[in-house]
Amino acid sequence: MIVCKFGGSSLAEASLFQKACEIMCADPRRKIMVVSAPGKRSSVPGDIKLTDRLIDLSETKEKKGSVDTDIVNAVDEQIRSICTGLSLPDELPDQLIDDILTLALKVDPDKPWTRADLIASGEIVSAKIATACLRNMGTPARIVDPREAGLLVRSSNSGTIILPESYRHLGRLNWTKEILCVPGFFGVNEHGHTVLFSRGGSDITGSVLAKATGAKLYENWTDRDSVFAVNPEIIEQTVPILEISYREMRELAYMGFSILHPEALEPVIEQRIPVHIRNTNNPAAPGTKIIPERTHIDRAITGIAASDQFVALSLRRVLINQEIGILYHILRFFVDESINVHHVPTGIDSLSIIVRDEDLTLEKEQRIRERLKHELGISDVIVTRGLAIIMLVGEGIRDNVDILAKATGALAEERISIETVILDYFEISLIFMVRDYDKTRAASALYRTFFKKKPLDRS
Ligand code: ASP
Repeated sequence: MIVCKFGGSSLAEASLFQKACEIMCADPRRKIMVVSAPGKRSSVPGDIKLTDRLIDLSETKEKKGSVDTDIVNAVDEQIRSICTGLSLPDELPDQLIDDILTLALKVDPDKPWTRADLIASGEIVSAKIATACLRNMGTPARIVDPREAGLLVRSSNSGTIILPESYRHLGRLNWTKEILCVPGFFGVNEHGHTVLFSRGGSDITGSVLAKATGAKLYENWTDRDSVFAVNPEIIEQTVPILEISYREMRELAYMGFSILHPEALEPVIEQRIPVHIRNTNNPAAPGTKIIPERTHIDRAITGIAASDQFVALSLRRVLINQEIGILYHILRFFVDESINVHHVPTGIDSLSIIVRDEDLTLEKEQRIRERLKHELGISDVIVTRGLAIIMLVGEGIRDNVDILAKATGALAEERISIETVILDYFEISLIFMVRDYDKTRAASALYRTFFKKKPLDRS
């Protein structure tokens, strides 16, 4: 059995819904269709995703106490254009918009789940349209609401946690008789309230369902032919990645490869379910397979990720390395400020804490400086903002002795100064910290070195 997930860009217009449903029907093993809310239409200038409209609608209701009719009209037009394009009877969009209005009227700032109910309705719209479209094509289908099916979740500071019993509940779904259309992006908590995942979270719903139902494959349908070796926002037209391991994908997703939600791999990893990223507009393209282990490694580096706006808080004190528990005490200050620490490169009498710039506000920086000084006697503190991380990822790094030399050589040739180098213990990722303004040049130099020059020399 195959679980498929179609993202918003694969469901932005009637023709795309049609293609998605044709894909579902083309292989009888495809039994579960997880859907995102309709994305922005390329044919409508300035269009936005339905989810963004619903977020605006909930925010204006919270602020002004009334439902903004302009936004409702835009939602109406977006949904109706899809339904009309699919020749679905008017009752369907009428009902969908009525439901959205009812939920919008209920939004109450004191009851955060009412907001979630409204925003989640974007995915419900897609699931209801897909169900109708499949039935029109003569394929039995029904909508499954993840809240009723028992997708139990709990919100935490570090994301949404899927409760273990969810897998038992969802495992009971009967997908043998009809295609199940499941709205992605949300579950339900122990109080029966809707809880949204973070943005792009329908990917998580897909992988939770793949694990719960024992699927053989999780197909994630998007709008690109494959994952590319470098984030396309940094360098366009890089080589496609045909095969990538879970570990490699996790590293790249963490550093900005947004093709898959960073939390979406965890459920499938345990069951070793392969994930296939494919293009709804071009199903013939090979796509990218995310698999447990790679057997054929033809390049040392699989992908290069780059992300900016990091900050390093570096501190120095003689004999800091001899003090047992010093790191614990320093990191506690970051915990108290709810700051996620990304890396901690250490020297003998010094260490740096690397975090996202947005997380270390000036007030937080000030409080941490005070505590370092008064509680630990550390006053030699330098904060460097405007840093970027360039990350080379590849299972082949482990087996080659020259990766670091080649990479530093490439950066030296470009006269790019390296602030920090981190090679993870398992040797799957190699990180260079450079200045923000060198990010693109550094990524390009590394791309040329590892992808444009001769392939991996195995002699
Ligand atoms: N519709 C939601 C979003 O725009 C969830 C998703 O697309 O997966 O983030």
